[in-house]
Amino acid sequence: MAKETAGPLRLLRETHEERVLTALRTQGALTRAQLAEQTGLSRATLSSIVQHLLAKHAVSETASGGESGRCRGRPVTLLTLNAAGGLALGMDLGHRSIHVTVANVAHEVVASEGTACSGRTPWAKRLELALRLVDELAGRHEISLDALAGVGVGVVGPVSDTGGHRQPSRAARIALVRDGLTERFGVPVYVDNNTRLAALAEAIWGAGAGLQDVLYLRLSHGVGGGLVLGGHLFSGAGGAAGELGHISVDRNGPRCACGGRGCLERYVSLAAVLERCGVRGFDEVLRRLEADDSAVRQVIEDAGTRIGEVLAAACNTVNPESVVIGGELTAAGDHLLRPLRAAVRKYAHNQVRQRLHIAPAVLGHDDAARGGIALVLRRSALLAGYPATTPGLPDGDQLQDIG
Ligand SMILES: [Zn+2]
Repeated sequence: MAKETAGPLRLLRETHEERVLTALRTQGALTRAQLAEQTGLSRATLSSIVQHLLAKHAVSETASGGESGRCRGRPVTLLTLNAAGGLALGMDLGHRSIHVTVANVAHEVVASEGTACSGRTPWAKRLELALRLVDELAGRHEISLDALAGVGVGVVGPVSDTGGHRQPSRAARIALVRDGLTERFGVPVYVDNNTRLAALAEAIWGAGAGLQDVLYLRLSHGVGGGLVLGGHLFSGAGGAAGELGHISVDRNGPRCACGGRGCLERYVSLAAVLERCGVRGFDEVLRRLEADDSAVRQVIEDAGTRIGEVLAAACNTVNPESVVIGGELTAAGDHLLRPLRAAVRKYAHNQVRQRLHIAPAVLGHDDAARGGIALVLRRSALLAGYPATTPGLPDGDQLQDIG
């Protein structure tokens, strides 16, 4: 190959390389066509940049396993960052369970494990349980945590980027987690709300994969949500964007722990649904749906309609491409989703509902931990410099990826 071009042309090449690496780091495996779309580079430029990155072993190429694996006789290949480039640790310190997941820069999950905890488990204890899981995983899978680039961790409750929490206990909890992990691993630690992290994970790897504007709703013990807009997790001024469970649906309704009245959560949380069905576990609800119990069917239908009404309003506000619905309640399937979709169709604006896709979440219990990994892959300055390109890029070219 000819000697590297000097001066502005080399700088331009490095800027283009950075653009390709950023797309692969934040989006995972991409075809050349997807890369061209993501980076805005011409096919010819992209081809030259990719050749260069392959030669440097910064990027590797694998055959696509998908249906469109062949195009005019030529196999379609996927490009990813070289998996050996670094690791990201994702954690979910949830109300009733803890999950830990390790992935590499090529977006491959290396190890994942979860454990149950009680709603009353103190936060220091949760952190201790999570760290024990990390040690177990590292030992079992022979993972060297020296290659760790960052930790992304999900906690319950709103997390504000500016740290201006009104509840001292919440601020103390976040500080405990952040400081404990920083001390243990010595790498950057990113903390966010775990439902929002699940939203980010679904928008990257799950039911909203490849979409830019995704509204996520989780129907579980609590009802929460998250917004991914323009491919980025949207926090809002106080870190509470997407709190769909606390939209009031009846001003005379029951009081809610948030201080409001008649919040959606009071009608469609797991506990509320079980109480209305007069049963103790959601498995029993599913059995009764199977047995065509009309009273239980009606409870689930009513829940679906209420949720759909709130979603229609939320969709009119942000006009997403997709609504992804996660949490235990989604196991009710069409009993819940049919009335939910009908309510959205009925109440959302014509322009909003035309292109709207409503789908159940596809990721498992490690969704928030995987969202933590996405945070690291998007925010880590260390990984942004991987593989090292010559320093001195103009600031304006650190492209569009601050989650
Ligand atoms: Zn509320």
